[in-house]
Amino acid sequence: MSTGLPTYRSPCSWLSIIVKINLMLAINPFNKLKILSHSDKINQLLNGKIPAPVRVVLEPTNLCNHNCVFCFYSNFRTDNKVHISREKLFELAEDFKKLGVKSVSLVGGGEPMLHPAIYDLIRWFHDNNILISITTNGSTFKESEIDTIVRASTYIRISLNAASEETHNLINAPKTSQFERIINNIEKLRRHRDKIGANMLIGIKNAIFEKNIHELEDMVALGERLKVDYIMFAAVVGESPASRRIIDDATEKIEKLNQESPVLLFHSFYKKPKKTPRCISNPLIGTISANGAMYLCGFMDHADGAYTIGNINENRFIDLWGSKKHLEIYRSQDPEYCAKYTCKMKDYDDVIREVFVKDKMHIYSI
Ligand code: SF4
Repeated sequence: MSTGLPTYRSPCSWLSIIVKINLMLAINPFNKLKILSHSDKINQLLNGKIPAPVRVVLEPTNLCNHNCVFCFYSNFRTDNKVHISREKLFELAEDFKKLGVKSVSLVGGGEPMLHPAIYDLIRWFHDNNILISITTNGSTFKESEIDTIVRASTYIRISLNAASEETHNLINAPKTSQFERIINNIEKLRRHRDKIGANMLIGIKNAIFEKNIHELEDMVALGERLKVDYIMFAAVVGESPASRRIIDDATEKIEKLNQESPVLLFHSFYKKPKKTPRCISNPLIGTISANGAMYLCGFMDHADGAYTIGNINENRFIDLWGSKKHLEIYRSQDPEYCAKYTCKMKDYDDVIREVFVKDKMHIYSI
């Protein structure tokens, strides 16, 4: 189904291709070499110590106003209908500040922007020089808080999955239609970002499967019309021949559109999980679930508690981080567990091994 929105095309497609190649290779947020800027912490890890995290991924709530048909968390959410209390959130914020945490990603669990204290928390982080990023369904931004959000954030990623109200209702299943509101929110964020010249990326994440593959071109057109910075496509299909056809079809379309589109288009369709040696870099990111559990990393929440460091409802974050238990779990990780996941920390670990362990860059010969 068409959105009826005009399709924006770059006046010079070669220019947009060159810009995209530069984006992928040079100084930009997607370059894995940025891990090198945390050399002090990497050296601590290589010496068997756990440094303070650079970033914490925080799920403020498991409550959600959507009910996406493919939701990875839906069963977990049903069993854990909770959110972190306001008091705990601010206690965490104080601990992050004491530890020197640089950024906090507000993610779900559920929809992070539904937490009743979320805007106060975002303001607190901004006032205390801790950057934030938000992964959201985009439906609940308060107009009066747009300025705070844009000034505080390095990126906002909106899970959209559709280019029309009809398909959005089918996939995200909100109680009442919210598609237009989400589109308006993206526009407001982007306009305000451009007006004040903020350093914030706006991206859309689309999960591709049989219910929305027919709208893929319209999703790109919508992203272009909204002037978002990127669209990230992921697959929510199995290994059946029909599923493979959907993904092959989507890949062909994305690669064709990518030659002309001013929006950076990514997909992770064929990225297979790789087996790597024991993970080095997971303590650079802390992970806290809405039920208070602190995991060794974001992929460990389904590991039957084997990789749970503790619970922030029982102990303070600052006491759990780097504790004896944390160190024990870190040292006893099983690479077979990680082998199931496509995880960006493996890419960072590759860089760490090449640069810090093997000294392939001759880092002291500048
Ligand atoms: S899944 Fe494995 S490789 Fe990825 S961050 Fe977790 S422990 Fe590290």
